[in-house]
Amino acid sequence: MRVLLIEDDKMIGQNLKAALAREGISVDWVRTASDGEEALANGGHGLVLLDLGLPGRSGIDLLKMARQAGNRTPVLIVTARDGLDDRVAGLDVGADDYIVKPFETRELLARMRAVLRRQAGAAQSLLVAGELALDLETHEVTYRGTTVLLPAREFALMQALAERPGAILSRARIEENIYGWGEEVESNAVDVLIHSIRKKFDKDIVRNVRGAGWMIPRGET
Ligand code: CA
Repeated sequence: MRVLLIEDDKMIGQNLKAALAREGISVDWVRTASDGEEALANGGHGLVLLDLGLPGRSGIDLLKMARQAGNRTPVLIVTARDGLDDRVAGLDVGADDYIVKPFETRELLARMRAVLRRQAGAAQSLLVAGELALDLETHEVTYRGTTVLLPAREFALMQALAERPGAILSRARIEENIYGWGEEVESNAVDVLIHSIRKKFDKDIVRNVRGAGWMIPRGET
C-alpha cells in the first residue's frame, strides 16, 4: 500500500517514513498543505496521514477542501496532545480517526488497519476475494488450502489485486500501488514478484491478461 504523509516536521516525517517502510508500506511524504493538495488530487494512495499544524494553510482546511472535492481516501489525523479542538474539527470535516503524538508505531499501524477495515466494511483484518484470503495483520495469504506468509512487496501486490477482484491492473497501476515516488523500479519487478508468488501457491493464483495486466478472478457464484 502507498500512504501519503503530509507533515512539516522533518524528524517526525523521517521516522514515520522509516517505520512504515519496515512494514512494507511505501510513503510519499510532502511537507506543505499545497503539496498535499496536489498529491491528493493525483490520487493513488490507500490512506493519508495528516498533520494539522502545517505552515501556511492548516490541515483542517486541506481536508475540508479535499472532501468537498469528493476525495474519499481514508484520512488519519496526526495531532498534538493539546489539540482537542483541532481533533474535533478534523473529525467533523471528514477525518476517519486520529492519533496523538507521540505515539508508538504499533498503535499507528493498528489504527491504520482499523480505518482501512471500516472503509472496506469488513469486521476483521481479513480480505477475501474468490479463493483467496489475505490477513492484513499477519501478511499471511491462503489460497486453496495453502497458507504462506508473504514478504512485504509480494503481499502488497496481492492486496492491490484482491481489493479489486475481476479488475485488470496494468503494470503501471500495480507499481503505483507497491512503490513510492522516486523509488527505483526494475522494468521486470512485477513479473519477478508474480513469479515468486505463483511458485509458492499455484500458477492460477494470478491471471495474466495478455497486453493488459493481471487480475484475480471474482469468486464463483
Ligand atoms: Ca506540524
